[in-house]
Amino acid sequence: MPKKSTPAVPGYDGPRKTALESIRMFCVQCMGGSPSLVPECPSSDCAFYAYRSGVIADGASRRLLRVIKDYCAACAPEGDVPRCTAGKCYLSLPPCPVWPFRRGVSPYYSAKTREQRRARAISLFGSATQEADSAPGFSETIPTHTSAQPVGTGEAL
Ligand code: SF4
Ligand code: SF4
Repeated sequence: MPKKSTPAVPGYDGPRKTALESIRMFCVQCMGGSPSLVPECPSSDCAFYAYRSGVIADGASRRLLRVIKDYCAACAPEGDVPRCTAGKCYLSLPPCPVWPFRRGVSPYYSAKTREQRRARAISLFGSATQEADSAPGFSETIPTHTSAQPVGTGEAL
């Protein structure tokens, strides 16, 4: 009997990734699934631009969850981010990679763990900004979400 895989987070059909990896995946999807096109993205005013290569560009905010939250606030219909259902596969469209982080909080850590990470960040960096993620370890063979930027559906979860 095949082993059932456990979802990374309820409501999300994609794999568990860090916030930085998720932004990178989002950008690859945004570029029609082509990693080689991501560096050539002309939208330097996009909130994800400084993170599109899977590293944090010099001078860019390290608060990746805030970056995603702000992006989602502009993306979700009527700003209704909590009700975005793009975390699920829909027909041939894969889930939106940043969906788990859309509220500006990682669903993978408890409040206690988040506080420990916050304390660690303060001790290491002198502030509670998010630590840099490790280098992306995901496959670049990512199915395309859309030929343009993914959009929320606004439907109930
Ligand atoms: S437009 Fe934004 S989301 Fe799309 S590839 Fe460029 S930086 Fe990434
Ligand atoms: S589709 Fe939903 S999760 Fe994806 S960027 Fe838009 S609001 Fe955020």
